[in-house]
Parts: sequence; C-alpha cells; structure tokens
Amino acid sequence: MDRVLFVTSEYYPLIKTGGLADVSAGLTNALREKGVDVKVLIPGYPQVLDKLHNQRLIAKITVDVGILKTVELIEGNVSETGQLIWAINCPEYFNRPGGPYLSEAKTDWPDNVQRFALLCRVAEDLSLGKTLTHWTPTIVHCNDWHAGLTPAFLSTHKKRPAVVTTIHNLAYQGVFEYEAFEKLKLPSEWWSFDKLEFYGNFSFLKASIVYSDFITTVSPTYAKEILTPEYGYGMDGVLSYHQKRLKGILNGVDYNLWNPTSDPYIYQSYSHKSIDLKDKNKSEFQSNMGLNKAVSTPLVGVVTRLVDQKGMDLLPNIILKTLEDKYGVQWAILGSGEGFIESALTDIAKKYPDRVSVRIGYDESMAHNIEAASDFFLMPSRYEPCGLNQVYSLKYGTLPIVRNTGGLADTVIDASVGNIKNGTATGIQFEHCEVNAIVGALKRALFIYKDKELLLQLRREAMKQWFSWDQSAQDYLSIYKIACDNNR
Ligand code: ADP
Repeated sequence: MDRVLFVTSEYYPLIKTGGLADVSAGLTNALREKGVDVKVLIPGYPQVLDKLHNQRLIAKITVDVGILKTVELIEGNVSETGQLIWAINCPEYFNRPGGPYLSEAKTDWPDNVQRFALLCRVAEDLSLGKTLTHWTPTIVHCNDWHAGLTPAFLSTHKKRPAVVTTIHNLAYQGVFEYEAFEKLKLPSEWWSFDKLEFYGNFSFLKASIVYSDFITTVSPTYAKEILTPEYGYGMDGVLSYHQKRLKGILNGVDYNLWNPTSDPYIYQSYSHKSIDLKDKNKSEFQSNMGLNKAVSTPLVGVVTRLVDQKGMDLLPNIILKTLEDKYGVQWAILGSGEGFIESALTDIAKKYPDRVSVRIGYDESMAHNIEAASDFFLMPSRYEPCGLNQVYSLKYGTLPIVRNTGGLADTVIDASVGNIKNGTATGIQFEHCEVNAIVGALKRALFIYKDKELLLQLRREAMKQWFSWDQSAQDYLSIYKIACDNNR
C-alpha cells in the first residue's frame, strides 16, 4: 500500500486562502479511506499551530536554504478527521501576522524564496528518511509552486520515492530573480531553459514540471487549456513538452461539509425531495441582509476572491446593468480582494440596499448561507482550473451560471434545448467573459426562473450530480502507480 507524503501550503481547516486548502483535505481524507498511509507536510503558520491537536515534537531537522536552518517538526492531527499533520515550526519564517504569502499590506513576503525552499528541503529530508528513519514515503505528492523545488532536490538522489505534482492554478508560478537562485545556492546547471530558468528568472513551478514523474491538474479541460498560449502563462511550451506525463483529474467536493440536508450553517435543511423548503433560506437571508422580502424575486449569489481571474472586475457593471434595466433580480455577494472592486461593490450596496447585499471579508457561514439562499450562482471566470463553488451550487439546487472554461466546463451542463429535452441540463454556460455575454446568460437564467416546471427539472438534476472525492482519489491512485513506473 502507498505511503504518501503530501506537501502543501494550505489545509482546511488549519489554513485556507482558497481551493488548495479544500482539495488538500478532501483528497487526503479520501485516500485515507482507501487505506493509504498519508502524512501531510505543511509550514507551521500560527493558524496551523493554533489548531493542531495532540501536538508533539518528533524531530529537529537541519536543512540548507543557502544557509543552514534548524527547524522543529511538530506532529499533530486535525481533530475533525484525525489526519496526521507534520508542521514545520520555524517562527522566523512562518510565525507572522498577515497571510501565508502576503504581508498585512498585501505585498509578497520578501523572503518567500527561502520560506518555501525550506518547505521543499524538509520534504526532501523526510522523503529520503534522513532524519526520521522509521517512515519514508513511496510517493511524494507536491502541490503548487510552494512545494516546487522538492522534485528538483529529489532528482539529485539515485534512490528516491516517486514524485507527483498537482497544479491547482498555473498563474501562480513562484518566480524569483537570479539573485534568489544564488542565495539558495542551487546547482548552476539548473539555470537552463529546460530546467528551472524561466524568461530570465527561475520558477519553482517549472522545477516541479520538469522533475516530477507525473503532473496532474485539477480538471480535464484545464489540462488541455494550459497547453495553449492563452491559458499557459508562459508555461505552455514546457507543459507541451512534458504532456505525456500530464493529466487532468477533476477535484471532488466534501459532501459532509457541503450538503443542504445536513449543513449546520443554514437556516432550513432540504433535499432534492423537498426543494420547496429551499425558499425558507432565501426569506431568512433577505430579512437578515435587509433585502426586499420578495421570495418571487430571483437571488443571484457570488462567493469568491474579488480578482480579475474570477471576472470580478466586471461584476459592478453587471449588477448596475441588471438594476438599471430593471431586471427583477437581487444579489448576494461575499468576497475580498482588489480594493477597487471591493469599494465599487460596497458603493452599489449602499445605493441599492434592498436589492444588493455585499459582505467584504471571509466568512464560512455566510458562504454556506448564500449557497442555500440563492437561486443562481454566478462564476464568470476568465480561467478556472476546477472551481468548487459551482459544484457546491449544484448540490444546493442553486443553478450555476458559468463561463465555458476549465472545471466549469467539466461540471455544469448547459441548459441548451437539447440538454433540456434529454433531461441532463444543470445550469447555464456562456462563452465570453464580457459584460454583455454575462448579462445575456443572466437573462437566460431569468427565463428559466419564470418557468417553474423547468426550474424544478434543472434543480433536481443539479442536486443529483455527484462529484465526490472517492472517484478522484481512485484516479490519483492510478497516477501514483504510473509515477512509480516512471521512476524505475
Ligand atoms: P480559488 O481557489 O481559485 O479561490 P475555488 O472555487 O477553487 O477558487 O475555491 C474557493 C473556495 O474558497 C471555496 O470553498 C469558496 O467557498 C471559498 N471562498 C472564497 N472566498 C470566500 C469568502 N470570502 N468567504 C468564504 N469562503 C470563500
């Protein structure tokens, strides 16, 4: 049976800035259920060390990040699931206010290169059984750029475990200047176009792509898209070169956390057999948020990072268009991100308090309530590696309105005439990330909303969809096998 060292910078509920945290937890839980021995290696951010249960110091590890650093390896577990975690306690690097990657002023931590090189060096040490001799992995599963130097470090050893890298978002590449390359004292032969060098800098993610035995990304469509200049963010060439070792595996979702039949955050639970009850969540939400209490008015939800990737720069104009053109819609928005988007949305909410509710910030409970209360859920992403909220929306009978890209394309079936006829439609897709196309998709949604029978048909079909981690974990097990073969 596989022994997996899962190297990640985020893990729900310990530390989360986005989907990586959900995926790390969902996948490792599903692998454990299949009998896989998984240990999660994560930086010891204060949030992690605060939440980790049954902590004990199991080793002191000295690694070279240009200078020698000795860190503590703290073993503990996630109380909700029992997942075993190894947290790297290095207060100088990880114990700071602000986020894992950005300071409170929202700028990159200036020593990110050493902070994440440290994660990779500790991963290398544990993979080879240097300090902890009683447990070595058969697979090292690296996630995103933060873990990217691990495969490169391991490539210098004759006998090593197989390495799989998962790209959760290709836009984040861990790119640093030559000075940083020198600072880490990386081998000079790695400064080459077919190794780490990347347009005059070097990239942690590229290191992962070049040196892993297998590369996955989080949906089949995104796996194809990233081979093109439009979505490749400069990595399309190197990915195309290594594409025989690349596959898209759709993320699952955790239906223990996201399920309207048992969601502790929502006002009224419901299932596909009692969809009528869903509206009680809407009325409650409307009251709580000061929206006009009209259950017959369709409510459109948005929960997201407020950034260009998600098409959120267009959201203020989209909302204004629906208000000015007097479409009978209300909006429920939760997110944080770019200041100009935050303030534009806040201004609109002030002007139209009975039609638009905006909450700036991160709020788990509100995210669940928006899913339960809304009739539609808008995701106009410019690109979307997988996306989770559209899958949550399906389970809540909240029809997703999505751009036809990445994981959105793989999970939502458009309400075309043909798909409505054969009963497979679960939402609405549109092609272009521009205001008119999105407003056009909203108009289609309103048309469906008016036809109660059709609405019910789509909601039922949406709620029947099942994107659990079980299948995805099975696919990862097959990839682990191929990676082991590639490592021979
Ligand atoms: P990404 O990882 O690109 O941000 P995903 O759709 O893969 O996007 O995952 C986003 C996750 O973060 C979802 O679980 C979503 O509910 C959650 N999320 C995003 N913004 C917020 C917020 N402001 N409050 C609560 N949850 C949020």
